[in-house]
Amino acid sequence: MPRRATKIVATLGPASSDPFLLEQMIRAGVNVVRLNFSHGTAQDHIERARLVREAAKRAGREVAIMADLQGPKIRVGKFAEGKVFLQPGQTFVLDAARTELGDMDAVGLDYKALPREVKAGDVLLLNDGLIVIVVDAVKGEAIYTTVRMGGELSNNKGINKQGGGLTAPALTGKDMEDIRTAMSFHADYVAVSFPKNATDMEMARQLCSVAAEDGHRPGLIAKIERAEAIPHLEEILLASDGIMVARGDLAVEVGNAVVPALQKRMIKLAREHDRVVITATQMMESMITNPVPTRAEVSDVANAVLDGTDAVMLSAETAAGKYPLETVMEMAKICHAAEGGEVFELDADFTGKTFIRIDQTIAMGALFTAHHLGAKAIVAMTDSGSTALWMSRHLIQVPIYALTSKIATQRKMTLYRNVRPLLIDTSADRDTALAEAEADLKVRGIVQTGDVYAITCGEPMGSPG
Ligand code: PEP
Repeated sequence: MPRRATKIVATLGPASSDPFLLEQMIRAGVNVVRLNFSHGTAQDHIERARLVREAAKRAGREVAIMADLQGPKIRVGKFAEGKVFLQPGQTFVLDAARTELGDMDAVGLDYKALPREVKAGDVLLLNDGLIVIVVDAVKGEAIYTTVRMGGELSNNKGINKQGGGLTAPALTGKDMEDIRTAMSFHADYVAVSFPKNATDMEMARQLCSVAAEDGHRPGLIAKIERAEAIPHLEEILLASDGIMVARGDLAVEVGNAVVPALQKRMIKLAREHDRVVITATQMMESMITNPVPTRAEVSDVANAVLDGTDAVMLSAETAAGKYPLETVMEMAKICHAAEGGEVFELDADFTGKTFIRIDQTIAMGALFTAHHLGAKAIVAMTDSGSTALWMSRHLIQVPIYALTSKIATQRKMTLYRNVRPLLIDTSADRDTALAEAEADLKVRGIVQTGDVYAITCGEPMGSPG
């Protein structure tokens, strides 16, 4: 399989839970497995994490596990018949006080605060924006609306307000429980759904540290899917280890047409702030039912790669689709081909920039040298993964091999673009460790005698900074 810099995040679900299939998917290129905490019990998640770790071991690859929290459920209640078909022009009531099941005229609400957060004229989008209703009036607990765009509305479908403005907190009681579960199996990343600001991310970080009794520190990913998050992007980034361009909910709140430009801005901003970025949702949607992607999907994945995303994500394609393995194989091919069309302008990245930290300056020096010498590889001996992260924020043709003695660091680095994380023993003195590292790289066929490569390490070995 050709070397690929862009990483693939795949969502685990019924379609990919067979141990042998999952192993094949990892061999085909999955770097991070996303566990969707919107479905299943704590025991299910623990079992799924075990499945992933075992499949990765059999495949001989390290993968990260990302626990994706459900976040606030802003949804309609249930219907007597399971669903209704709303016609354009009809009236429809969302009633927070309703206890009986829904019908053609009205339905209850899971999110009881909604009547206090909307007013006449507001546009509400149901079922991922497929149904559009306009608020006529709010009386007590009931929201009176007229259907603008109709369609099938079934049990517990999501509600978004166009332009944002719903105040539901990002972390619910269930999320707090789920963080405890995720920490019990050492999730490498925790994705926070619907954060509005940096405080939501800081709170998630605190909950993770309290829940992780053994000091495990997951990377925190802020899912950017609320309109309110956009003006706070920079502060959210600084409070997180990465962001997800969660195009599903985001498109519903800000409008489809705005999302591509936002995606480019978010990817650029994340890289500038030394944070990772995942581009998500509907990337290979048609492969849920078809064995090949559409031309538009191929272009979408390729453009995310050219934008500089660290990873591209698969949701229902691998969780519930008919072709999970084929989708991963196709996606890997597209990423690889798109990377072939990249233009490397490392010098421009450094213009007008000053690096203050000694370790970061050295990392940048090694990067610059390796790029200009056309070195075979850059080898970063790293404890926390910071060196590899800093280096991977710049697009270069030289592959980065990140050598660490910590399994948690190795797993975290699987998400970093252009970084291949490897586990080595760095407990020896520097010269022995460097000699062992080179021997390891030779055995793996990464370098040969006579090749030029750049290597960075801290001193004393294994200590950060
Ligand atoms: C999204 O909305 O794009 C997204 C990734 O979120 P969810 O977890 O709801 O799929």
